Amino acid sequence: MTAHVEQPYVYTQRELVEPDWTRFPGWRDVTPAQWEDAQWQRVNCVKNIKQLRDLMGDLLQERFYADLERDQAERATMSMLVPPQMMNTMVAATADPMSAAGADFTAAFYADPVRLYMLPVFSDRRTDWPSHPCATRDSLHEHDMWAVEGLTHRYPTKVLAEMIPTCPQYCGHCTRMDLVGNSTPQVAKLKLAGKPVDRYAAMLDYLQRTPQVRDVVVSGGDVANMPWKNLEAFLDQLLRVDNIRDIRLATKALMGLPQHWLQPDVVEGIERVAKTAHERGVSLAIHTHVNNAASVTPLVAKASRTMLEVGVRDVRNQGVLMRGVNDSADQLLDLCFALQDGAMITPYYFYMCDMIPFSEHWRVSLAEAQHLQHAIMGYLPGFATPRIVCDVPFVGKRWVHQVESYDRELGMSFWRKNYRTSIEAADTEAISRDYVYYDPIYSLPESGQQWWRSQGDHGADLEIAMARAAASRDAASRAADLLAVH
Ligand code: SF4
Repeated sequence: MTAHVEQPYVYTQRELVEPDWTRFPGWRDVTPAQWEDAQWQRVNCVKNIKQLRDLMGDLLQERFYADLERDQAERATMSMLVPPQMMNTMVAATADPMSAAGADFTAAFYADPVRLYMLPVFSDRRTDWPSHPCATRDSLHEHDMWAVEGLTHRYPTKVLAEMIPTCPQYCGHCTRMDLVGNSTPQVAKLKLAGKPVDRYAAMLDYLQRTPQVRDVVVSGGDVANMPWKNLEAFLDQLLRVDNIRDIRLATKALMGLPQHWLQPDVVEGIERVAKTAHERGVSLAIHTHVNNAASVTPLVAKASRTMLEVGVRDVRNQGVLMRGVNDSADQLLDLCFALQDGAMITPYYFYMCDMIPFSEHWRVSLAEAQHLQHAIMGYLPGFATPRIVCDVPFVGKRWVHQVESYDRELGMSFWRKNYRTSIEAADTEAISRDYVYYDPIYSLPESGQQWWRSQGDHGADLEIAMARAAASRDAASRAADLLAVH
């Protein structure tokens, strides 16, 4: 008799669940009508430790609050802002939290994947290398590539419009931590200088005189924080630019605050914009940002399906790959199936977490990302199988298997590109040069970690050394070059 061996991932269709928010002491009396009201959600966001205490009562032990407070003071690059909708997806399996109050509930809260990136605490972070020596604010150099203020022109045919520097929720790992959100004790945020109306006009003017651009990601921050009439006015003008064929609205709030996208004036507005887009042959899509299956609830599905019903062509997910949040094939596939089966959201990308300050504990190595890409192949339809991508500084997105060469001991991967960014028009070597991405140092073998320790605090020198060393394809001579510099 042949033994039955299970597949590495066992698919089961799961029903989406809206966890019962009244399990939290602070929301015991909140009605469904309040819960589904976007304004109630915004007013009742958790913005500070006092509000978290008011919500949790005695569920959490004091050590958690102290840990959070220390992180806010010494590490956080984003201020705290968690809508009730997202808070409610944390420790969702604890139906009767009062019976677990104290040590058990606190342990479950510490381990929760949504908590891990929305309410980071000091003890989550690495103490050996809290930041990679080459981590930077604006690690993707988006500001350097602003064609006009807030309009990043990195790829030849597409641009990113940063409409607004705020969101209804702030994620601890935000790539745009340089610009987005309120300043924290560690990070004074960059301020947009121009008035919104002037910036939008300058963006539209640039797009009109740059016919090679055909695709605009209308982003932020999160467009859910723009007054609808302002967003609709911008989209109407954008739809009049003949060269624009793709418009993608970037909003994590479709998951974090689905109540926003279900407001009648917003739904009607989207319907008008989608109709105009359809008439003009423009593809209008929504891109959202969901990192764990727990976040996909019936309300999220309702918001997504409503957008599709009123004419949006596709709703796609761009998650971020993070340790503890979704760094296993099971977690990724559970999320993809929750999105695809339950909410009609296409799993599209998982980005490797960018090299911003204090993000090391979230980051995974390129080897791990390659392994995960392999592990999720073949379960989902091809069009809904997400690509895991590395957003390489000065390059852009590359599929993780597109790496040119990879020194696993030092955690350096080398990448090339096939176009010039907007700041490289005169750079003859832009498409023959190697560009570097770094694995988190704690993930390296001891010899590699030792090498980094021996470098001291030479992040800037190292960047230069990397560019030079990368000219050689041979890992040993690259390492020798690097050592010679210091
Ligand atoms: S929603 Fe997006 S832009 Fe806003 S904080 Fe999160 S990652 Fe950053």
